[in-house]
Amino acid sequence: MKPRLLLLNPPAARPTLRDDFCSSTSKAGYLWQPIDLICQSGYLDADYDLRLLDAPVAQTAAGPAEEAIVAWRPEAIFSLTGSAAFPEDFEFLGRVAERLPAARLFVGGDLARFHPDWVLAEYPFIEGVVLDFTRPALRDCLAGRPADRSALARRGETASPLPLAAGEFSYPWPRHDLFWALPYRMPFLGRPFASVLTNYGCANSCAYCNSCRIGFARRSFDNLFAELDRLDALGIRHLFVKDFTFNQPPARARELLETWAARRYRFRWTGYLRAETIDAELAALLARTGCVMAQIGLETANQSALAAARPGADLARAREGIAHLRRAGVSAGAHFIFGLPGDGEAGYDATIALAESLPLAYASFNHYTNRPGARLAAESPATGIARLDPSGQAAADPALSRWVGLAYRRFYRRPAYWFSLWRSARAAGSLAALWSMGVSWLAARLRKAA
Ligand code: SF4
Repeated sequence: MKPRLLLLNPPAARPTLRDDFCSSTSKAGYLWQPIDLICQSGYLDADYDLRLLDAPVAQTAAGPAEEAIVAWRPEAIFSLTGSAAFPEDFEFLGRVAERLPAARLFVGGDLARFHPDWVLAEYPFIEGVVLDFTRPALRDCLAGRPADRSALARRGETASPLPLAAGEFSYPWPRHDLFWALPYRMPFLGRPFASVLTNYGCANSCAYCNSCRIGFARRSFDNLFAELDRLDALGIRHLFVKDFTFNQPPARARELLETWAARRYRFRWTGYLRAETIDAELAALLARTGCVMAQIGLETANQSALAAARPGADLARAREGIAHLRRAGVSAGAHFIFGLPGDGEAGYDATIALAESLPLAYASFNHYTNRPGARLAAESPATGIARLDPSGQAAADPALSRWVGLAYRRFYRRPAYWFSLWRSARAAGSLAALWSMGVSWLAARLRKAA
């Protein structure tokens, strides 16, 4: 019998997303599959009896989650943690460790990735921190083999400076079936959907973001297309491409999409793209491969705040990129940040006007947070660590919250918007998912009003 290993997304008071060194609460009821756990499931499956507990998705509260873990008695646990649920994640893991002292406990997540020494010193029950979840270091460490220190930090063995991903990577066929058994949902994807990476990290250098601080590596095309072939053969029709930025560099994205199109998959998919480098050719390839939604970071209409925070940002070119998408029949959604250094009320007003002026299937308005590891974040965990949630559920700045609320009201109260949303969801085959998220969103609003 194989030893038991638990893949864990810990319970939280609100639906909480933790993966890819980011964390936030879910505003509209969407819940995606944690890509860290997906990649590691492929490496660990041969040696372990794997179980997945994604407590926010299974709606398992802390007490029952703790009892379920203790009853299963895993020999090892790989758990996500996140600044959106700090310090509760570590407190929960501490209680589990106290009741299962023999279990070996490893964590991933934003705070842990960028402050591994602090986390290992503060929480002695944690044996190691996964720094790069696309690599097999956790499997090797558990098996007693020398583990790649650029992918796993252990007490007293942390590489300094923290390593950056580079070159090419592959990962084994993940245990997608574990994730298909849970009700994950995304606004423009039907179910079941699979989550994949074509690259890892980010080659850009936005000052407010930590994704570029983990380096940038490309997935081997052979490895990627072997997974896509198998997903297609299994009848999976919806994909979430979890790259931080799919079209980087643009020439590679084009080559990838040409190969994808030639294989005649039947996927509908969504992913994050940079709008400035979307031209007519790329937009046409996105459409041919079934991309139904390009998620775009626009951040702010305040040009000076944008230039300081996001090298290469160009709103005029981004507008052109979105127009190319529209002509090709690919929907676009956009993400905005309120509270970037140098931004202010005039910028927020212009940002809302920008969102209203674009043909967007959705807009997400977020609070600026000092994301662990970002260039703008505090260097020292002693001063920089706090609960951080870009969704603003625990926002400290009421004025900013008012602007975010106003942005949502102005953007979503336009009848023309609802017609275009219905059209996008129908094209994506996700009307049912959209309906269920609408119900969750309404229930959350009613709870808040009560
Ligand atoms: S904000 Fe987007 S483009 Fe900028 S570094 Fe982060 S992932 Fe890359």
